[in-house]
Amino acid sequence: MPRSAATTRLSIDLAALAANWRKMRDLSGSARCGAAVKADAYGTGADQAAPRLAREGCRDFFVADANEGAQLRPLLPDTRIYVLNGVFEEAFAQTLAHDLIPVINSAEQAAFWCGNADARPYALHIDTGMNRMGLTPAQALAHLQGSAPAPCLVMSHLACADEPDHPLNATQIELFESLKPQFAGIEASLANSGGIFLGSGVHHDLTRPGIALYGGEPGSHRPNRLHTVVTAETRVLLVRDAKAGETVSYGAAQQLTRDSRIAVCGVGYADGFHRSASGAGVPLRSAVPQGAFGALGGARVPVLGKITMDLTMFDVTDLPEDGINAGDWIELMGATITLEEAAGAAGTISYELLTSLGRRYARSYAG
Ligand SMILES: *Cc1c(COP(=O)(O)O)cnc(C)c1O
Repeated sequence: MPRSAATTRLSIDLAALAANWRKMRDLSGSARCGAAVKADAYGTGADQAAPRLAREGCRDFFVADANEGAQLRPLLPDTRIYVLNGVFEEAFAQTLAHDLIPVINSAEQAAFWCGNADARPYALHIDTGMNRMGLTPAQALAHLQGSAPAPCLVMSHLACADEPDHPLNATQIELFESLKPQFAGIEASLANSGGIFLGSGVHHDLTRPGIALYGGEPGSHRPNRLHTVVTAETRVLLVRDAKAGETVSYGAAQQLTRDSRIAVCGVGYADGFHRSASGAGVPLRSAVPQGAFGALGGARVPVLGKITMDLTMFDVTDLPEDGINAGDWIELMGATITLEEAAGAAGTISYELLTSLGRRYARSYAG
């Protein structure tokens, strides 16, 4: 870890990322395994994560927009880079220049690409029940039976892959399957991380895991022991003592029930340590009323009072007297505080937590 004046630091374990990809690849059976590296590879740094995955053998990358694709193209020679948001006039030149494959999501995008791109490859997205991106099945069939060049990939996206028992999964899986004869000979893709765990009927030719690569559990499947990729920590700036009955942080929302020792740390909501993970004073959060925990040497320490823009207080009363000092680092997520726990304490999901980590972290990469 380089010496840095930053009061937050992020370690990204690229070997763990690679191991998670191999796990998804193996679970994908005979399907090729791609990787969703949109939103800067879920906040982990796409310029590091994507080439590492390419080195592991990944050849199919999914980004959100042409800007992300353009940034990655020089780092990912000899790979397919699919742009999930599709294409429109202002993104057209960049899509061509960087050899990106737009995922065509509407009849309008299909007409635009097929009318302008000289039979360059594209993917066709069929909406099978999410009402987000994709042509309706009827529009897709009309397109496939028309005179336009055929897509190189036909895909759809599951709305509830993180809930294996949700009935919409079967509906979408069966609809996609029933459409398949209409695009015989063209590669098909349906599964995100959660979809991969739904079984071989969902894998088709290409899978598109994202969150599982970064160590997030893709929903309520049995726990599958993915490797921890992201460790975030904050520096203890000072340690103070306070008396029972006193209060901590803005709004005096948390009153101390005992004499306490408080570690004041250099992380706040500007760093994506969400205010909703505060130890108190968040009326809308009911699932995790006590708020987030940090960890120090495996010991868990709760957030005290409201998280502020740049600072957060932790209750370290239960640590040994000499157990914590200015300059120590408290884990916000990592080996002790799982990504899922940190997200849950903020009333959100792993995806949002990772992609909102701020710019102040000193980042380091291993593996
Ligand atoms: C983000 C995304 C993925 C990856 O989803 P995870 O749940 O992170 O595995 C796959 N396909 C599409 C269309 C996406 O938008």
